[in-house]
Amino acid sequence: MNTKIAILDENNIVQNIIDEAGLVIAQGGLVAFPTETVYGLGANALDEIAVEKIFKAKGRPQDNPLIVHVADFNIEPLVKEIPSIARQIMKRYWPGPITLIFNKSDLIPSATSAGLDTVGIRMPSNIIARKLIEAAGTPIAAPSANISGRPSPTDVESCIEDLSGKIEYIIGGDKSKVGLESTIVDCTCTPLCILRPGAITIEMLREIDNRVYIDKNIMCKPKKDFKPKAPGMKYRHYAPKAPVKIICGDLEKTVAKINEIVQNSMGKKKIGIMATDETKEKYPKGTVISLGSRENLDSIGRNLFEILRGFDVIDVDLILSEAFEEKGLGVAIMNRLKKSAGFDITFV
Ligand code: AMP
Ligand code: MG
Repeated sequence: MNTKIAILDENNIVQNIIDEAGLVIAQGGLVAFPTETVYGLGANALDEIAVEKIFKAKGRPQDNPLIVHVADFNIEPLVKEIPSIARQIMKRYWPGPITLIFNKSDLIPSATSAGLDTVGIRMPSNIIARKLIEAAGTPIAAPSANISGRPSPTDVESCIEDLSGKIEYIIGGDKSKVGLESTIVDCTCTPLCILRPGAITIEMLREIDNRVYIDKNIMCKPKKDFKPKAPGMKYRHYAPKAPVKIICGDLEKTVAKINEIVQNSMGKKKIGIMATDETKEKYPKGTVISLGSRENLDSIGRNLFEILRGFDVIDVDLILSEAFEEKGLGVAIMNRLKKSAGFDITFV
């Protein structure tokens, strides 16, 4: 398939491009587009056949549901009911990086919800994403625009790498501002439960209801018979080609441990090190890339997937990463890092 690629300036959007891509969605095709979390691969969320094409293009397991993106607060037709607590979250944090799970209406085909009775809905803040949804005239089902299992794309180059030739249209915009997928909150239960941590943190949600909690299966390795509430939780995710190992503990000991592993490999392995601005000068050997300053977790979140993908390009044999405190955005960063490492963590 010939994929049309158009790069837009988010401050000066060419409406013709948006209209053309909106028409592709309306006619049952696939469009990759920027959002503030990561780039999404969109199809008409109400069209079963279009949605099935997403699963095929990504190689995504059929039982992993898609998030439905809207540009309008009027989501009543898509859901059975909107609990008042969900309305408060929507008012405070939409548009933005948070997905809410509701009981679905019959308008949502089973392909979109992967057979579940519930649907995840989000209103992105990215202007291209919102204009595209408006132009399509329909909610857009969109998982991340990567081949299943790979780190999510946070720039248009990564989308092109994974999906060129497989979909009708790729719209490029800026690099994703958040760089991590949306927070997912189950609003069908009381108290509310976070199924995936993201930029809207538990601390922020507790300002609305202090009983909000994080599903206990999120931060540890799932057991074999684990039946997750968010099916995506069980899959290997965000994985670069090389294995990832996390070294966790006091920063000085972490640096010493990473240097010891590099030393012990005696140059036989090409080792990539995910460091931080505070430590990057302390690794004499290995290919060192800094995720950013520990003082600025936002930039670490923004850079994580891009750097994981970057190690694929330079073809390392092993990636060693420092860890982050699981507080605020650190919860989401560590969740993605642990999944990319298949929960291979060494404590020092
Ligand atoms: P992705 O768009 O690739 O980031 O994946 C979407 C994530 O949202 C997956 O982990 C899904 O399991 C989760 N998700 C989407 N819809 C639902 C739902 N109805 N219930 C629970 N989790 C959902
Ligand atoms: Mg994904």
